[in-house]
Amino acid sequence: MLNLVLFGPPGAGKGTQAAKLLKKYQLTHLSTGDLLRSEIAAKTKLGLEAKEIMSRGELVSDEIVIGMIRSKLASNKDTKGFIFDGFPRTREQAEALDKLMNENHTSIAALLSLEVEKQELINRLQKRAEIENRPDDKDLAIVENRINVYHEKTAPVMDYYKAQNKYIAIDGIGSIDKIFENLCTEVDKL
Ligand code: AMP
Repeated sequence: MLNLVLFGPPGAGKGTQAAKLLKKYQLTHLSTGDLLRSEIAAKTKLGLEAKEIMSRGELVSDEIVIGMIRSKLASNKDTKGFIFDGFPRTREQAEALDKLMNENHTSIAALLSLEVEKQELINRLQKRAEIENRPDDKDLAIVENRINVYHEKTAPVMDYYKAQNKYIAIDGIGSIDKIFENLCTEVDKL
C-alpha cells in the first residue's frame, strides 16, 4: 500500500493536489474536513457538534476525527493506499494514525508538506470563499485564526514525521501542474 499525508496550512492547495494524486496513483482520498462537512450536511449529531467548532476555525476533538479515520480504514481494506488530507492535525492524531496503520499492517510512506506563506494563503482563501461558499473562508478573522491554529497545533506534526525521516517539503507556490509534477517526482522515489 502507498499511504501519503498531504500536509500544509489552510489554502496550501491540499485538496486540489490530492484530487490529482489520487487519480494518478489510484489512491483513496480521506479528507477529515470533507467528512465533517458531510456530517454537517446530513445533520448528524456529530455534524451538529462539529459545526460550531469549525465555524470558529478551531479544531474538532482528536477523538472525533480519529474515530472517522478508523472507520474509513476499516471500510476500504482493498484500496491501493490512502491520501490523508487535513489529517493528522495534532501530534496525538499523528500517533493514532501510526497505530492504526500498524494494526492494518501498513505504514505512512511520507508527509508531503506544501509550503506557502501567510499572505498568499489569505488571498487564496478569499478567492475560494467566493467559489465554494465555505463559511469558514468568508470571514478574515476566522481565516487568520485557522492559520494561527495551524502554527500552534498542527505545525508540530512536521517534527513528528521529520524524526521518522518521512518529511518532504514541496514549494506550494506556482502553477497547479508544476506543483503536481514536483509532488509526483517525490512520490515516484518512494
Ligand atoms: P479543512 O477542510 O481541512 O480545512 O477543515 C475544515 C475544518 O474542519 C477545520 O478548520 C477544523 O475545524 C475541522 N477539521 C478538519 N480536519 C480536522 C482534524 N484532522 N482535526 C481537527 N479538526 C479538523
